[in-house]
Amino acid sequence: MSIPNSQPVINLNAGIPIPQLGLGVYQAETGREAYEAVLTALELGYRHIDTASIYGNEVDVGRAVRDCGLPRNDVFVVTKVWTKDQGYDQTLRACERSLELLGLDHVDLYLIHWPKPDTRKDTWRALERLAREGMTRSIGVSNYTIRHLEQLMATANTPPAVNQVEFHPFLYQRALLDFCKKNDIALEAYSPLTRGERLNAPVIRAIAHKHGASPAQVLIAWCLTLGTITIPKTVQRARLAENFESIQLKLDAEDMEQLCSLDEGLRICWNPDELP
Ligand code: NDP
Repeated sequence: MSIPNSQPVINLNAGIPIPQLGLGVYQAETGREAYEAVLTALELGYRHIDTASIYGNEVDVGRAVRDCGLPRNDVFVVTKVWTKDQGYDQTLRACERSLELLGLDHVDLYLIHWPKPDTRKDTWRALERLAREGMTRSIGVSNYTIRHLEQLMATANTPPAVNQVEFHPFLYQRALLDFCKKNDIALEAYSPLTRGERLNAPVIRAIAHKHGASPAQVLIAWCLTLGTITIPKTVQRARLAENFESIQLKLDAEDMEQLCSLDEGLRICWNPDELP
């Protein structure tokens, strides 16, 4: 994979580099909106796109990846198996279907979207097979707590490369981050912008002002500084550029301390804590 030098990259335990900043496309509307967002992102320098079968826009993501003029190997494509498709055979079929919609012969990372209690073990065995057969270059999970990861690692032949979870200063999952680091699992931060809910928080605004940056850039730079992968979503060209420029923003120790103290357990999305 050839990634522009200016981009920070994380090496996954599967031995594959992933661009640390990607584009998420949840709620990017199927059709023109999702297609153009991905195409514009790739034009601006993004090399990592995060979709899922449940987002309903794999067709558009795949078309943009194929139309963008970059070699396939230069774009890191992620998709996920949805909850109703979990189970061994169902997951093999779901991945095949996703590849068909994407129009690609493999993805770079395939994730279990949600730790469904009764099926996640068989689903993981299916992911291991998909990786062996080259349908995906690496495999991982999403919305897993430490407990779910421990259960998985106790029986898995291949450890997860990634755990994609909600993560921002208002939900600073420090114990989970430490656990992932210790076990060579890359933590991937979703909803890094709190879907806009905390962009106006006074600390965020003050740090943004200090650096001549935007609040969104501060939130993204916080994730990058902690060594996590992150996938802010936007479909607007100016924001795609703004978010991508977060790579240049260098937060100092004082900024990080202030941001890390904002944790309030805020959940924008779902909470997997109670799942057995
Ligand atoms: P984000 O925190 O990325 O916020 C997205 C929202 O912020 C959109 O409304 C967007 O609007 C707005 N926005 C984007 N950039 C800016 C900016 N610079 N200034 C102001 N507002 C901005 O939320 P998501 O929940 O979408 O998370 C990102 C990605 O993470 C998803 O797209 C998906 O790929 C993944 N995800 C995974 C989950 C999982 O269970 N595995 C769950 C949730 C998300 P607009 O588009 O109009 O610019």
